Amino acid sequence: MEASLLRQCPLLLPQNRAKTVYEGFISVQEVALKKKQELCPPPPPPQFYSSLVEEIGILGWDKLVFVDTCLSTIKLKAEDASGRKHLLTLKLKAKYPAESPDCFVDFPVPFSVSWTPQSSLISIYGQFLAALESLKAFWDVMDEIDEKTWVLEPEKPTRSATARRIALGNNASIHIEVDPKHPTMLPESCFLGADHVVKPLGIKLSRNIHLWDPENSLLQNLKDVLEIDFPARTNLEKSDFSMDCGICYSYQLDGAIPDQVCDNPQCAQPFHQICLYEWLRGLLTSRQSFNIIFGECPYCSKPITLKMSGRKS
Ligand SMILES: [Zn+2]
Ligand SMILES: [Zn+2]
Repeated sequence: MEASLLRQCPLLLPQNRAKTVYEGFISVQEVALKKKQELCPPPPPPQFYSSLVEEIGILGWDKLVFVDTCLSTIKLKAEDASGRKHLLTLKLKAKYPAESPDCFVDFPVPFSVSWTPQSSLISIYGQFLAALESLKAFWDVMDEIDEKTWVLEPEKPTRSATARRIALGNNASIHIEVDPKHPTMLPESCFLGADHVVKPLGIKLSRNIHLWDPENSLLQNLKDVLEIDFPARTNLEKSDFSMDCGICYSYQLDGAIPDQVCDNPQCAQPFHQICLYEWLRGLLTSRQSFNIIFGECPYCSKPITLKMSGRKS
């Protein structure tokens, strides 16, 4: 160990008797050159190209969206039964088809391909289509939510995104985490907003839970159980659904949204957690107990409490 280290780095001197600490210089040039060689592998044999071109021909050139000059990255497209478009990106290795290509998809579940040296692009594409079919119900559920409600987060959901924060009105929202394998089952959920808005919803949820019917869509179930109509983005007047933080006057702040709401029903002003924290910390009248800060709402001066949570959104 020590001998090989000193052979590789002759400018090092041991600094202790156990020879665990060294001081001196190491040459990085050699390492950089080695890395460079790895990045440019020798070109694959000619049959690599001919068999690939043949496979794409069988698959249909219309499925091909992108291919790079050395045929190492291939993007294929497919449409699922609901007309959604999906992409499959393949990174081929020089030993293809002996070695499986790396597959990249926008799925909420891992996409593991079963591969034998006899496999081809056609078999991968078949597995891709089967996976699209198995995820159809999940995407149907998410698309309905995205179309018919006001989704606050994420702003532009990807096909792999399983969480949504949906506006409920009165500055309240519900955060749901949908199980891609059981998309119409009751999702993991939590409410965000002022207590007087959120508490009754929680009570309804537990009282009506027996109404939940996995045969219905997730949105329909949420409506039935919470006894509400979800406000659509277009139905909401800016004035009756102010979402901006009352301190920094913005909505998004470092990826956070104003999820702290004044409990006074006449006020109900939302704030970012960090903005409210900075505000309350600057007041002499505020008190802190563990992770809870008690102070006054900057808008209505009524008591407001801030729970500092480590929750990431
Ligand atoms: Zn703010
Ligand atoms: Zn207030």
